Amino acid sequence: MKIRNRIALQFSLIVATILLAFSVIIYVTTATYSRDDFYDRLKSKALTTARFLIQVNEVDHNLLKIIDRNTLTALYDEKVLVFDERNRLIYSSVDDHIIHYQRGLLDEVRQLKEVETWSDDNQLAGILYEEGGRKLVVLASANDRVGQNKQKNLRFTLIWGLLGGISLTIGLGIFFAGQSLRPIDEINTQVSTITARNLRQRLDEGDRQDEIDQLAVNFNAVLGRLEQAFEQQRSFVSHASHELRTPLAALKSEIQLGLLRRLNADEYETILTNLLSDADRLIGLTNSLLFLARTLENISQMPLAPVQMEEVVLLARDELLSAKPQYRIEFDYDNLPESETETTVSGNEELLKRVLLNLMDNACKYSANHTAHVRLGTDARLCWVSVRDEGIGLSPEETELIFEPFYRSANAAGYEGFGIGLSICQRILELHQGRIQVESRLNEGSQFTIRIAHL
Ligand code: ADP
Repeated sequence: MKIRNRIALQFSLIVATILLAFSVIIYVTTATYSRDDFYDRLKSKALTTARFLIQVNEVDHNLLKIIDRNTLTALYDEKVLVFDERNRLIYSSVDDHIIHYQRGLLDEVRQLKEVETWSDDNQLAGILYEEGGRKLVVLASANDRVGQNKQKNLRFTLIWGLLGGISLTIGLGIFFAGQSLRPIDEINTQVSTITARNLRQRLDEGDRQDEIDQLAVNFNAVLGRLEQAFEQQRSFVSHASHELRTPLAALKSEIQLGLLRRLNADEYETILTNLLSDADRLIGLTNSLLFLARTLENISQMPLAPVQMEEVVLLARDELLSAKPQYRIEFDYDNLPESETETTVSGNEELLKRVLLNLMDNACKYSANHTAHVRLGTDARLCWVSVRDEGIGLSPEETELIFEPFYRSANAAGYEGFGIGLSICQRILELHQGRIQVESRLNEGSQFTIRIAHL
């Protein structure tokens, strides 16, 4: 069932129940009031008749009958019977005393003093009238035709009012629910046109006030993130293929060169050495790409354990120096805290080593003295490691861009590299809820600092 119809139905059910309850209360209260009122009138009639009979002895029965029938307050089908102590009928307002009553009624009236009951369709009131030692039982009955007509009219009005009210409620409910849900229909239509190819499209955010506008705002934010992710993916693929094409093209031209003419053994050796270095470059690049793709994927599955940052720095240094012995790493021990827990973070040792290896490698690679200065320190919450060099440095605009995959600064052109290392470092730090920052001056040097919360 559509939400619009469900809301209209629920709303109508609630209103119908309230209307029904009100109608029943009004009907029952009016009926009770009208019946009680009629009994009161019957009792007062009975009382008046009895009073006339006893107090005004001169009034003869026939005259009383005439008075009874012709008073202004005479009721429809009105009959009054008066009985003495021995249940003898001493007065009847009509000649044939046709009030049907149960045998025990007279005794019941004597006992209870007042009784209200029915005689066929008529209401019947019985009272005990005591005066001057006499105890008369007076029965007065009449048909409350006016009251019944009023009740009938009321019933009619209430039933039709109820049906009309419910129909109106259903109609208005469907209309207003439709009105309120129309923006959702519009969002639905807009969303159905969004595909991977037009992620730039945005939903209409209205005046950003109500819940549906907020839904559109949030949806647009999700679209924004999706678009960014798609864009990153697209540029990653195009950069990666571009980077892979260059060494492949170099490989191809080397091979073509080798096939051009017959070469001597030395020339073949040179070509094979070049091919090997190009193949190595290709392997290095594909490994980096694979690693970046993996770190992008496996955010939640990364196993975390306490890691000693000081040890990681030393491991990275040793690994770098054994691969490139011409590099120099200077470790500054001055800031080391006394407590070991301050340099212990929750993380993945392999990944953190990769970050430091990359930072130290860059520092040595991009500086003429091939030297990296490493410092480790802590504050109340964070453990930080900074890697400083006195190398080629970066312009302020470039410090923003170097963490993008494949971005290389203009002055790095003469140095080996693919521009992937720092984006991997940034991903790894994000996985550790940490940060990487750079301060740099062109031609003066750079300092990269990573910060991670310690235990
Ligand atoms: P790669 O060094 O392989 O090019 P990175 O992702 O590690 O890739 O670095 C991206 C770019 O950031 C480098 O190409 C270089 O332009 C710049 N960069 C990184 N480290 C330094 C540094 N220590 N000094 C100057 N520039 C740097």
